[in-house]
Amino acid sequence: MPRPTVAIIDITAMQHNLEIAKIQVPAARTWAVLKANAYGHGLERGLRGCAQADGLALIEIDAAVRLRELGWTKPILLLEGFFDVSDLAVVDAYRLEFAVHCNEQIAMIEQGRFDAPLQVHLKMNSGMNRLGFKPDAFRAAYDRLRALPAVGKITLMTHLANADDAKNTTFPLMDQVQRFRAATAGLDAEINLSNSAADLLHPEIKTDWVRPGIMLYGGTPGGKSAAEFGLLPAMTLQSAIIGMQDIVVGDAIGYGSRFCAEGPMKIGVVACGYADGYPRHAPNGTPIIVDGVKTRIVGRVSMDMITVDLTDVPGAHIGSSVTLWGQGLPIDEVAQAAGTIGYELMCALAARVRIVERSAT
Ligand SMILES: *Cc1c(COP(=O)(O)O)cnc(C)c1O
Repeated sequence: MPRPTVAIIDITAMQHNLEIAKIQVPAARTWAVLKANAYGHGLERGLRGCAQADGLALIEIDAAVRLRELGWTKPILLLEGFFDVSDLAVVDAYRLEFAVHCNEQIAMIEQGRFDAPLQVHLKMNSGMNRLGFKPDAFRAAYDRLRALPAVGKITLMTHLANADDAKNTTFPLMDQVQRFRAATAGLDAEINLSNSAADLLHPEIKTDWVRPGIMLYGGTPGGKSAAEFGLLPAMTLQSAIIGMQDIVVGDAIGYGSRFCAEGPMKIGVVACGYADGYPRHAPNGTPIIVDGVKTRIVGRVSMDMITVDLTDVPGAHIGSSVTLWGQGLPIDEVAQAAGTIGYELMCALAARVRIVERSAT
C-alpha cells in the first residue's frame, strides 16, 4: 500500500473559481496564472481547470512550451519576460507573449529577427519597486518598442502592491493606480493590471485584462475568507494516523521536546511532514482535522511526521483520516497559524506526495 499522504486536486473547483474571477470583472479578459506548477497543483491540471480562460500566464518558459505541446493555442504570457537572448527564439517559435521591464530586454529585441510579430507587455514600476520602468521612463520605453517593426501589440502592464490591504497608508492602492493612469494617459493600448485581490476586492479598477492566481486555487488573497468570496479549495492535503501514544503529565513529544503534556493525553502520529510540504514552523495549536474533528498539532513538525492531540477525538484509531488543509479546513487558516500565507503552502507541496484527482463537492 502506498503511503497515505495524498493531495486531492479538484479540477471542477478551479473551473468554478475561474468563473468567479471572470464574473467579477465581466468587461475584462482573463489571464489564468499557472506559474509555479499551477501553484503546486500541476501544470496540466491547471490547464484543464483553466481551459476557459482567455490566456494563461506563468513565469517558466519551459512550462510555457509544455502548454503549447499540450495543445493550448490561446495566448500565453511570460510574467517576468525573457531572461536571455536565447529565449527569444523560443518566444518566437511558440508565440509567447512576454513582459518587458528593462532597457536591456529592449536592446536584445532590437538585435533579433523574428518570424511573427512580438506581443509585448510593457511593465511599469508604478511603485512596487520590483520590475518595470519608472513612470517617467515609461513613454520612452513605449516609443522605443513602438519603433521596432518586430513588435506587434503592446499592452500596458503593472502589478499592485496593496490590492489586498485597504488600510495600507504607506502606499495606498489608489495612489498606485493613479500613478499608472497618469503615466499611461493618451497611450492607445490595452491595460493588464489586476491580480486576485484587485479582481475580488476592486473590480471597479479599469483594466482590459485581469491576472488571477491564488483565487483559482481556492485561496484568499486577503480581505475576506475564500469561502466568503465563494471560492472552493482546489487542493486538499490528506493523510492518516499511523501511530498512537498514551502519554502522562510531563511527557514530551518529538524533537526538541517542544510540547510537554500537562496531564494524560492521547497523541496521534500523522504521516505527513515538512518533506511533504507541511510547514516546519507550524506552532503547537495549528489546526488539523482527524476523523472530521478539528484538533491541533502538538510538538515540532518533523520530516515525515506530525504529532496531534487526540484527547478530544475519542474514536480516533490507526488509519483515521486526517485533513491537513483543503476541504473542511481552509488552507489560509493553517497558513495563518503558521505565520505564512496559503500561497506558500500550496506552492511547497512536495513532489513525493501522491496526487489524486477528485471532485470534493
Ligand atoms: C503571481 C502573479 C499574479 C497572480 O497573483 P495572485 O495574487 O496569485 O492573484 C498576477 N500578476 C503577476 C505579475 C504575478 O506574478
